Amino acid sequence: MEKHYQILIVGGGNAGLSVASQLLRKRKGLSIGIIEPSENHYYQPAWTLVGAGIFDIQKTIRNEKDFIPKNATWIKEAVSEFNPTSNKVICSSGKEISYDYLIVCPGIQLDWNKIKGLKDTLGKNNVSSNYNFNSAPYTWEMIKNFKGGIAVFTNPSTPIKCGGAPHKIMYLAVDYWRKKGILDKCDIHYISGATVIFGVPEYKATLEEVLKKGNIKVHYSANTIGIDANNKTIEFETKSTPSTIKQSLSETTAACYSINEASQADLTNKVTLSFDLCHAVPPQSAPDFIKKSPLADASNPYGYVEVNKNTMQHSRFANVFALGDCTNAPCSKTGAAIRKQAPVVVTNLLEVMDKQPVTAQYDGYSACPIPTQYGKLMLAEFDYNNKPKMTFPFDQAKPRWTMWILKTKVLPWLYWNKILKGTA
Ligand SMILES: Cc1cc2nc3c(=O)[nH]c(=O)nc-3n(C[C@H](O)[C@H](O)[C@H](O)COP(=O)(O)OP(=O)(O)OC[C@H]3O[C@@H](n4cnc5c(N)ncnc54)[C@H](O)[C@@H]3O)c2cc1C
Repeated sequence: MEKHYQILIVGGGNAGLSVASQLLRKRKGLSIGIIEPSENHYYQPAWTLVGAGIFDIQKTIRNEKDFIPKNATWIKEAVSEFNPTSNKVICSSGKEISYDYLIVCPGIQLDWNKIKGLKDTLGKNNVSSNYNFNSAPYTWEMIKNFKGGIAVFTNPSTPIKCGGAPHKIMYLAVDYWRKKGILDKCDIHYISGATVIFGVPEYKATLEEVLKKGNIKVHYSANTIGIDANNKTIEFETKSTPSTIKQSLSETTAACYSINEASQADLTNKVTLSFDLCHAVPPQSAPDFIKKSPLADASNPYGYVEVNKNTMQHSRFANVFALGDCTNAPCSKTGAAIRKQAPVVVTNLLEVMDKQPVTAQYDGYSACPIPTQYGKLMLAEFDYNNKPKMTFPFDQAKPRWTMWILKTKVLPWLYWNKILKGTA
């Protein structure tokens, strides 16, 4: 049997719940359906802190049902197909749901299989990833029990959610080993698909100091392709030709990722490195059901939803909006970006419903809170222009204790109590 909603939201994560709550605060009588298959809701930004041993993993998970706004309907299904010309989605159960307006926000897909061997060894054999609820606690086990040797941290050559997370955990591990007095026994490697540590020059300078102080060896334009847990080796490809440092704006990815856009054919040198500890981050792309749908941007290599990067309205279907990690907006994919995107979607969608021109604009704002050691954090905030966009009246490129408190205490509280409820 077909159901119909005035507004249908695909994905009840950070973006879906924020936007649903804000819409209902503005207009009580809306009929909103939220399609979300999971009974659990995760606060993913705290997984870095879990991996660093200072946050309880159980505090990052809550019941989805407790956060579905009153007056919205939770549809416990997974969308498998979009049919935007007939204003319908089809779920994997076969159920069809129609809508007047659609908001697409099912997040990003973790392509674990693109690193051979990773999935099978995740959470054991001294291989972990903070990008997974089950393995994040194991990251801390590895770091805590490390007695020295080769420690490897990887960052893929695709845009990812929270571009800083692959190196945040490395700085905390280094600080822990320094305080434990074993840093001189550690050979630390950062294997990154990017060309610089951070694409915004002001914040990059701070991180380069941290890399130097930790004696971290950095391999740029290096794409991890395999992890052999038995032989404890990692394999990555590097560019055969020297890459030029990309600081210019990209059409397809946020400048902060600084991914080398040279052709894949340049990736010819294969390097094998032994490791004793490995923190890996998988390549990421749009969920497959988006990639193959008419909503996808055919020119985007990762298959994201095609939106106008300022209005968040779909470029071809005027009654469709998208936000969060699934869009082709060339911003950094974070919850912080969603905080600025959600009000834009709400305003513009209500204007479309009222047959008015859309007026709200998203400027590409994103934030990346990067701990440089236990107790100190640099809050990197920036926009589409790759320019710092600092909230506080001090130089945020300098790591501070107050920003550490913001990340470890204030933001988790804000997320559950304000952001998901549409009041922040
Ligand atoms: C380790 C780590 C550290 C991070 N650190 C930070 C940080 O410090 N600061 C920050 O701002 N951000 C951070 N992030 C990023 C942040 O968590 C994401 O950007 C944010 O959660 C994206 O929200 P979203 O709603 O787009 O996707 P999600 O929150 O992932 O939600 C997507 C939802 O869609 C649902 N879904 C999936 N498939 C379907 C389907 N077929 N049909 C319907 N629903 C579906 C999912 O079940 C999920 O509930 C971090 C992420 C990670 C993993």
